[in-house]
Amino acid sequence: MSHPATTTPEDTRSNRDVVVVADLHKSFGDVEVLKGIDLSIHRGEVVCVIGPSGSGKSTLLRCVNLLEQPTGGAVFFDGEDITDVDYDIDEARSRLGMVFQQFNLFPHLTALGNCMLAQMNVLGRSKAEAREVAQRNLERVGLGERGDAHPSQLSGGQQQRVAIARALSMDPELMLFDEPTSALDPELVGDVLSVMRSLADEGMTMMVVTHEMAFARDVADRVIFMDGGVIVEEGHPDQVIGDPTEERTRSFLQRVL
Ligand code: ADP
Ligand code: MG
Repeated sequence: MSHPATTTPEDTRSNRDVVVVADLHKSFGDVEVLKGIDLSIHRGEVVCVIGPSGSGKSTLLRCVNLLEQPTGGAVFFDGEDITDVDYDIDEARSRLGMVFQQFNLFPHLTALGNCMLAQMNVLGRSKAEAREVAQRNLERVGLGERGDAHPSQLSGGQQQRVAIARALSMDPELMLFDEPTSALDPELVGDVLSVMRSLADEGMTMMVVTHEMAFARDVADRVIFMDGGVIVEEGHPDQVIGDPTEERTRSFLQRVL
């Protein structure tokens, strides 16, 4: 992409980076869980975050969407500091889609209803428009025929795909996934991963915490290995997963591969 000559370095950065995390710290009481994280995610990039349990991956994602308030550093979204007290958190949240390990669907609503609710409540869309957008996104995840089903009538993999459709229905600029397949029976993992793969192919900007090393290797533009609240190593998946530099990365991969 080329920029006009008058573009400042700041403009260039904010055009290119959807999220910038700067010296992020997070403590719970006396325990420092994130010890200074720096990273940026470019528009259209897929970043996979790997690392042992307890290394701070979920906390990092939860700080990016402000489910947790950082204790130090800042998170910039489209160049704006969303950790600033004056920033409207709901504004940022409506532009981020989050998919959790547990799908967190409303059991009393249908698949369509789950995908419509926040569109109406947060974005102020009419019921008709919300329904149309929801239907389109259920089709996108291969569930166009199941809009009237309640979560209890769907498999775990289908429920997770509804959760993805629900997030997509908000037209997010960035999708955050926290171990989206970890709660699924093994035979249901593939369908969810292939939906995520097609989103990546469409150019969606994605940050994905995952233990699916084959997915990370195939789909990620960049892999980040975290351990003990810091980024130990990051780079192209062929390097970080295929030929890691750091001993800690090597021993983690030996345990999971
Ligand atoms: P990961 O997702 O990599 O497994 P987490 O970010 O969930 O790691 O957790 C990192 C560390 O922070 C763990 O030791 C966990 O016990 C601790 N932690 C996470 N959330 C809280 C919380 N709300 N209160 C206290 N400790 C927490
Ligand atoms: Mg976690």
